[in-house]
Amino acid sequence: MRLILMGPPGAGKGTQAKYVAEHFGIPAISTGDIFRANVSRGTDLGVQAKRYMDAGEYVPDEITNLMVRNRIDEPDADPGFLLDGYPRTLAQVEELDSMIEHTGHRLDAVVVLTVDSEEVVQRLLNRARTEGRADDTEDVIRRRQEIFLEETEPLIAVYRERGLVHEINGMGEVDEVTKRIFEALDVIDES
Ligand code: AMP
Repeated sequence: MRLILMGPPGAGKGTQAKYVAEHFGIPAISTGDIFRANVSRGTDLGVQAKRYMDAGEYVPDEITNLMVRNRIDEPDADPGFLLDGYPRTLAQVEELDSMIEHTGHRLDAVVVLTVDSEEVVQRLLNRARTEGRADDTEDVIRRRQEIFLEETEPLIAVYRERGLVHEINGMGEVDEVTKRIFEALDVIDES
């Protein structure tokens, strides 16, 4: 299975990505997590990414694309992968198309988590309090929502045209949302 999990920041992508990836026996690849790991290790990539992340802006495509290309080349991604937080721009969509085409496979589905935007902001403010992420201040949270609407939401239409989009209600308990995702994806897995 080659899957994308999409939705605004705070929609619960990270949590759901872990369950879905485990269910299908594939790695969950979160570009945000990889960037954060690099920031905490103080790598060159981390130093470059940090200033964008702290401002709620996207890390430039060239940096992000190369990082994903390298990650997808790892052997654990041979049977497939679930991408969480990538692609986020049209250039990343094109790059991902070429990465997948190169392996001779295809993208199976794009799961879009839909949530109430005010609840999303509240979730992120809660996460800021409990996890202390540097990019979870209110201004940055608002900027991240804005950039999602400008840059990433339009990608849903691109994938919808390809017939790949499964819109899933992301509101409610975590396990209810997981169940909805499984119901949508198990049909594809069987086909
Ligand atoms: P996330 O944890 O997915 O919300 O990502 C945290 C931050 O990492 C984002 O606000 C961006 O600064 C950066 N980031 C993650 N994924 C991408 C991506 N696909 N393209 C550009 N920047 C990204």
